[in-house]
Amino acid sequence: MSYDPNNVFARILRGEIPCRKVHETKHSLAFHDINPLAPTHVLVIPKGTYVHLDDFTAKASEEELADFIRAVGDTARLLGVQADGYRILANNGANAHQEVPHLHVHIFGGRPLGSMLKREPAR
Ligand code: AMP
Repeated sequence: MSYDPNNVFARILRGEIPCRKVHETKHSLAFHDINPLAPTHVLVIPKGTYVHLDDFTAKASEEELADFIRAVGDTARLLGVQADGYRILANNGANAHQEVPHLHVHIFGGRPLGSMLKREPAR
């Protein structure tokens, strides 16, 4: 999967389409998911052009890496989900069914979220 500069999150970062912003830092942006799967469902993205976590951790600077992980935690606190707990999830590549080719971490919260994955036989 290569970086598509016209992916929807790149367009949000360029201000071409709107988002419901929660938090912004020098290197990261957090906004509400357009199709929420939980009472709280927010996406945190780096501003750099990274496809997924593999790309990001291979190429990003220490400053970008630190900014991004701190932005995830700070966003959860801004949303108030840290008290009852929340889940973070990042789909990376085909097996994970990543839909948008710009790294994003989902933050889910606001209700009990069930087990981590649907149980299926390991292959
Ligand atoms: P993933 O399957 O991990 O790539 O998830 C992509 C996520 O992006 C989905 O949860 C979508 O609902 C969300 N999404 C797609 N377009 C937008 C948008 N314009 N604003 C906010 N979230 C979006």
